Amino acid sequence: MKYNFIKKAFFPLLFVVTGHFSFAQSYWQQHVDYKMDIDFDVENHQFQGSQTIKYTNNSPDTLYKVFYHLYFNAFQPESMMDVRSRTIEDPDGRVNDRISKLDNSQVGYHKVNKLQQDGSAVDFIIEGTVVEADLARPIPPGGQTTLSMAFDSQVPVQIRRSGRNNREGIDYSMTQWFPKLAEYDERGWHAHPYVGREFYSPFGNYEVNITIDKDYILAGTGVLQNPNEIGYGYEDEGVEVKRSGKKLTWKFKAEKVHDFAWAADPDYKHVVTNVPGGPDLHFFYQENENTKEWSKLPEITSKAFQFIEKNFGKYPYPHYSVIQGGDGGMEYPMATLITGHRSLRSLTGVTVHEALHSWYQGVLGINESYYAWMDEGYTTYASSLTVAHVFDRNVDWFNNRSYMGYYALAVSGKEEPMSTHADHFETNFAYGTAAYSKGAVSIAQLGYIIGEEARDKALLRFFNEWKFKHPDLNDFVRIAEKTSGLELDWYYDYFVNSTKSIDYGVNKVEEFDGNVLVELVREGDMPMPMDVIVTFKDGSKKTYYAPLSIMRGEKPVKNDLDRVVLPDWKWTHPTYNFQIDGKLDNIQSIQIDDTGLLADINRDNNKWENK
Ligand SMILES: [Zn+2]
Repeated sequence: MKYNFIKKAFFPLLFVVTGHFSFAQSYWQQHVDYKMDIDFDVENHQFQGSQTIKYTNNSPDTLYKVFYHLYFNAFQPESMMDVRSRTIEDPDGRVNDRISKLDNSQVGYHKVNKLQQDGSAVDFIIEGTVVEADLARPIPPGGQTTLSMAFDSQVPVQIRRSGRNNREGIDYSMTQWFPKLAEYDERGWHAHPYVGREFYSPFGNYEVNITIDKDYILAGTGVLQNPNEIGYGYEDEGVEVKRSGKKLTWKFKAEKVHDFAWAADPDYKHVVTNVPGGPDLHFFYQENENTKEWSKLPEITSKAFQFIEKNFGKYPYPHYSVIQGGDGGMEYPMATLITGHRSLRSLTGVTVHEALHSWYQGVLGINESYYAWMDEGYTTYASSLTVAHVFDRNVDWFNNRSYMGYYALAVSGKEEPMSTHADHFETNFAYGTAAYSKGAVSIAQLGYIIGEEARDKALLRFFNEWKFKHPDLNDFVRIAEKTSGLELDWYYDYFVNSTKSIDYGVNKVEEFDGNVLVELVREGDMPMPMDVIVTFKDGSKKTYYAPLSIMRGEKPVKNDLDRVVLPDWKWTHPTYNFQIDGKLDNIQSIQIDDTGLLADINRDNNKWENK
């Protein structure tokens, strides 16, 4: 008896311990700590940099090489980005053939003068925007090494995202501006040449010291460490800048980020506001005729942050900065660069969108090359909710734009699966619409499949479980499965990995034996569960719900809904029949999905009316 008791008690304990251990072993990510000293020359738009990266190899693999991105090298005639832009059928209007026309004083570059590993020289070659380096000593699993680099760079004329003298007269938009270690994960290295699209990098801590002409005001990722030293009232609105000497060194620190961006202009106005229970919000812009609406932005952004934190997770950094710069809107850790000559609606829309990337990209370090639709799509979806909240509007209108965008793509003949690597879509149209519109539809429509409450819980849980990590699609699918209790692999297999689309119809309605028989038909290639709303002539409504067999369950009923759960619809069966009690005369209409959440590309056949 006693022996048995011990065995029973011991066994579950062992199981718990090994179960936990194997989980800890299965996920890993690389870690980087950057220190950079930048000496900037505003006369010729060049800078010298010295960089050390303490690199921790948390992978189970020995690394013999490392790769760096040199993004500025894309801004040279005949670069991959230049040729791509001149040969794609629908080039980005900001790029077109402009790179091909840059002269030597206008191009961007990074020249690597020295690369060392723990003091030993490292052999390397530069292949366009990528450094391929053979390590002096391999880094074993769990090993750490220090990589030091000295480089000279020239800031290109602003063409895409980064550069000098943007169209609104901001001097320096310094994004993708330093030699940056590529990411290594369970799929290996991601040393993608820069063609103007997406980013993916390891998390770590950054210490960046920028020495620049004293007239400049800097804004960016991180927290300024030495406002007193440089005589800058960074924390207070309206404090006069008093500075001496020809140049000053701005010292920034940022923790747990995967990028560092900054901007500089002598004419920045700097406004600070606080989100109750949240971060300080900083706004940097040139105050003039065209930026009048910026005065309303602090209050709006604070309202947006409160809504976002409540619905999508807690913002984990002390600051967020909205900075006039760049060529549209682009997200960076703790900051965004946006163009500023905008109406209030446009200014709010772009600020909210870029701020939400702090969640879907900044903190959830999604590999944008493979999952651009997760960061752009989820951001677009969450922006719709947030902007609707800020302006006290109905969210349907905002969401509807994503559905309309996706429908246009689905019937265009140009659609490619969302799982396509972002750089390799045939057209900007197919990439952009897949990432932003179809990506947003994927998450809105998930609410149709599992219920809106389970979807919202899944999003929040996804953030909390995967913050400061690199989740992929499967990590989100598993969480959505756990919060809903339903099987969802089929949804993503169709919607992400294929271009198959949804089209259901009400095929036949007839009275038989005193009851009504309804036949539904699946015209499209993609199966879905069916919500069929029957409206009776007395004004009452009843929902007939046919779950999809491969969901292995039903979404919960909304409490105000009169719902009949029908037998599962098997995906192999093109048609489905069910019965409504009572006479045909009692029925006003029969409609598939009245919420608009089902992405049915042909709605003409969705409703039967009793005329
Ligand atoms: Zn975006």
